[in-house]
Amino acid sequence: MPEGDTIHTLARYLGAALGGGVVTRVRVRGQVWPDLAGLRIQGVSSKGKHLYLELNNGLCLRSHLGLYGSWHRYRPHEPWQKPERQAVLVLEMEGWAYVCFNAKEVELTRSTGFESRDQRGRLGPDLTQDTPDADLIRRRALAISPPDTPLVDLLLDQRVACGIGNVYKSEVLFLTRRPPVLTVQQLSLQDFVDLYGSAARLLRRNLGGGPRTTRAIPDGRGPLWVYGRAGLPCLVCGTPVRRERLGREPRSTYWCPTCQGPVPAPERAA
Ligand SMILES: [Zn+2]
Repeated sequence: MPEGDTIHTLARYLGAALGGGVVTRVRVRGQVWPDLAGLRIQGVSSKGKHLYLELNNGLCLRSHLGLYGSWHRYRPHEPWQKPERQAVLVLEMEGWAYVCFNAKEVELTRSTGFESRDQRGRLGPDLTQDTPDADLIRRRALAISPPDTPLVDLLLDQRVACGIGNVYKSEVLFLTRRPPVLTVQQLSLQDFVDLYGSAARLLRRNLGGGPRTTRAIPDGRGPLWVYGRAGLPCLVCGTPVRRERLGREPRSTYWCPTCQGPVPAPERAA
């Protein structure tokens, strides 16, 4: 298994390999955990950087790979590619040893189901801290928001991802050339990559304080592209900027109907 693989891909891979299998022996940091022998792995899932191996007794082996962790799979007697002392978790089952080297954390925990339900009330990933994981944000959006939720509401929903306020909302939509009337069900993974990647760049650029700037062009035409510029010419194409109160809890949204239009064609829907 390649290092640097995403946890999500890893979870899918391990889910296919381990799902339904019976564990014959589990070792954690060299110690055998006898209570786990004979249990069945019901599923493998990931949340953020955590990987969960769900067992059929309601417990769950959670691991966090940190910077240096990786999973390998070996046949019995096959030499390992890393020293045994670096093996944090070894799962033996059905003629294979699945070895997690250099994990930052491994623990036995409650099933992820408990935490999943709790997830809805929690804040999403902090866009000022992390390089956004668009796939994770998309999964949160689909879990939390009804499919017809307008994009203008989604961007402000701090449970999906944390940090976008009303000014950044309009600026991100303009910079990524997305019309504000899109709904969650019309968004592709690439839309999430573009929207939340742009938001994270703007938020981090502005962490130092001072006037909020999304447009670092010193031509005297202002630090923002569209926000607060209703009726003024778009700084890219000259079309008057529109302003409307959009969303379920209406908030001012500014956009350029030329740069960000037209309304999406059906093929946009992912
Ligand atoms: Zn324009």
